[in-house]
Amino acid sequence: LQWDITLAWGYQTGAGRHPDRAAIVDDDGVLTYAEVNERTSRLAHAFRAGERIGLLCRNHRGFIETMTACTKIGADAVLLNTGLSKGQLAQVAQDQKIDRIVADREFADVLPSGVPTYFSDELESLILNGPTTPLPRRPPRGRLIILTSGTTGTPKGAKRPEPASLAPAAALLSRIPLKHGDVIAITSPLFHAWGLAAFQLGLVLGATLVLRRRFDPVQTLKDAEKCTAMFVVPVMLQRMLETPHRPKLRIIASSGSALPPRVATRTLEEFGPVLYNLYGSTEVSWASIATPEEMLREPGTAGRPPLGTRLAIVDDQGNPVAPGETGRIFVGNEMLFDGYTNGTSKESLNGLMSTGDLGYVKDGLLFVAGRDDEMIVSGGENVYPREVEDLLSNLDGVTEVAVLGVPDDEFGQRLAAFVVGDESLTADHVREHVKANLARFSVPRDVFFVNELPRNAAGKVLKRQLREQV
Ligand code: ATP
Repeated sequence: LQWDITLAWGYQTGAGRHPDRAAIVDDDGVLTYAEVNERTSRLAHAFRAGERIGLLCRNHRGFIETMTACTKIGADAVLLNTGLSKGQLAQVAQDQKIDRIVADREFADVLPSGVPTYFSDELESLILNGPTTPLPRRPPRGRLIILTSGTTGTPKGAKRPEPASLAPAAALLSRIPLKHGDVIAITSPLFHAWGLAAFQLGLVLGATLVLRRRFDPVQTLKDAEKCTAMFVVPVMLQRMLETPHRPKLRIIASSGSALPPRVATRTLEEFGPVLYNLYGSTEVSWASIATPEEMLREPGTAGRPPLGTRLAIVDDQGNPVAPGETGRIFVGNEMLFDGYTNGTSKESLNGLMSTGDLGYVKDGLLFVAGRDDEMIVSGGENVYPREVEDLLSNLDGVTEVAVLGVPDDEFGQRLAAFVVGDESLTADHVREHVKANLARFSVPRDVFFVNELPRNAAGKVLKRQLREQV
């Protein structure tokens, strides 16, 4: 999805084809395709070709308009995670050589010093006063840099490729029936690969994008009444299941982290057969997609590779494993990233790229067991935390759970479970449930009851932080 073509050209052609269709609905109102096109052409003059712009914004028009303006003038855009600390932001600004930042004012205290900033509430006047002089017809091609979540350390800058095709859109549409004119509520952050994919795809389709600065389950479900599709991360879906409203949607697409089978089943029961689970990463884009029919059969599955994507499950020597056996997941498609900005990349094997995850294929369906580096080796036995998490999330009274390995003198590693749930639960109760269903070495020795799990801005549990607590 050649982002410069898609954004600049998308709004230009959108303004020609359906000028009066709503392109963006946000907390500040509605903008049509013609308006976004006109406004971003004016805003583009606030930036220079070759400049590197960092975006530190919640989901609103300013985010999309800045990105589009960057493509119109040929500036680079670095999408910054709104959960980063002041220190991390300073590091990222230096690593990514950011020249200017566009930020929401609420982040004023964490901005790196010395980097010129436009606050997003100043964009309106830049737009209204922006010149209407024509922009270069062929601006230099700007780069798009997405940061990884930083789940495993400092966020890395991932360079997105510039495929001159609509392969990513075609891949997604081969499994998810989005269509021209859909109205899509994007609840996942736009700075994350998943929110970004939703917005780019919406633009290709001439859809209306519904954005809110902050996620609120009740408000999102209210918005969804006027929508046909909703893009979410699993923890948001879980929060929405705790509220009563069930609007009629054609598509609920979840990605960004593992979808607990219980959440999948409840969503399918309560919203109907409309749920899609996408497995992928910033580096490989989408690797597989599960349809509602597949999840009705196997709630824990991540489905099958979409059009143009190859999957391989291999052992440590790079040889394919037998069906049903767990191995390392490799992916090949036109959307693999161009490496990290620090010059490193992900491991490759015969043109396929490692996702860093383990998984297995059963009856043609992929099951993701979790991250390679989160596998626990306890007393010489391999334990996949996701298996224990999925089991425990089915236990009555449990709302959320995270399982991880912590160093142990006797066994090398032991399992620790962090549980959010009601007061009737006891550590013994939790252990008994695992003992009754899984192997002895999968039973968590440590069980901690907590009020909430630490998560990053994209809703992913920060296991590193939990490990430090132990
Ligand atoms: P970092 O590389 O900085 O640690 P990250 O890998 O968490 O960050 P992302 O690219 O956002 O950053 O996350 C991709 C990972 O999220 C995948 O490799 C996988 O572990 C997990 N994931 C995403 N979607 C799914 C899914 N549908 N099912 C299971 N796991 C998923």
